[in-house]
Amino acid sequence: MAALMSMIQGQDAVKKKLLTAIEKKRLPSSMLFLGPSGVGKQMMAWAVAQIFLCENPSSSQEACGQCGNCHRVALHQNENILFVEPRGTAIQVEQSRQMIEFFSSRLWGKARFIIINEAHRFNVQAANALLKVLEEPPPESYFILLAPTKAGVLPTIRSRTQVFPFGTLPKKTLQSLLQRTDWVIEAAHGRMDLAQTLLEKEEWRQVVFGALQELLKTTSPRKAYAALEENIRDSEFALFAAQVLQLFFRDVFLRKRVPGCSVIHKDQESLLQAFVQTFSIEDILTFFQQAINLEKAVHSHWDKGLFMDQWLHQIEDLRTHQREGV
Ligand SMILES: [Zn+2]
Repeated sequence: MAALMSMIQGQDAVKKKLLTAIEKKRLPSSMLFLGPSGVGKQMMAWAVAQIFLCENPSSSQEACGQCGNCHRVALHQNENILFVEPRGTAIQVEQSRQMIEFFSSRLWGKARFIIINEAHRFNVQAANALLKVLEEPPPESYFILLAPTKAGVLPTIRSRTQVFPFGTLPKKTLQSLLQRTDWVIEAAHGRMDLAQTLLEKEEWRQVVFGALQELLKTTSPRKAYAALEENIRDSEFALFAAQVLQLFFRDVFLRKRVPGCSVIHKDQESLLQAFVQTFSIEDILTFFQQAINLEKAVHSHWDKGLFMDQWLHQIEDLRTHQREGV
């Protein structure tokens, strides 16, 4: 197996910063990796730990990837690493006690790490219990905290850690990781987790576009939306549909303004053009707003069936006006 660090793509700046610090033996003992989900923060944490724990490092900043320790780190089973994440909705005070105990026991390996996922979800009591050891961990003992934004992390924790910012992944990195160059790359906004969710839901996306196709063909949108209406009662589908529709109408809007401009749903070119030709900018904005409202409806647990009814009425009105040339 290759060393974890060599498998990380698209985080060159933070990688360089960490490797330089490791080489100079100046890695901060408490680190905060900040960035959106799905951009490699956790993988980087395990990769850093692997460099320290490797039994046959190729250099001061390169794990061999082959030794027993390297393997156990890659499998997330190394006894020198404690991985912590929220229990229920928050990181609890018992978990802080467990971390303190882990760092106060005797050091058996070359180093040890506590990786804390979702570090923005410490409850205050748990954070307070940990502050002293976070401020000054024992020798060869490192904290790596992971969180999406600085704002969510308690100030008492933030001030005791050194921040390493992670950006979203470049398009070409996502393309090479996923081996594809289509709409998923555009819609994933540089996040692997989002890309994977989109891939799993390709079938749903086809349902949404199927409904849009029908909407163009038929004079009765109610018929066109029948399939969508069935599915829309499932909140997960409704949310996904709302997001796909927002991106699609955003594409249509852009195309109306700037013909030929680059769009997200590249594979839906003919559908896109049909919408550009059939509807006015005002109509498109109405559709877009409705897609946003649908997302809000999901989050507010509204009756989605009722919501769809209202939406259909609105579209029917629109089409009627079109036919009457109003
Ligand atoms: Zn090794």
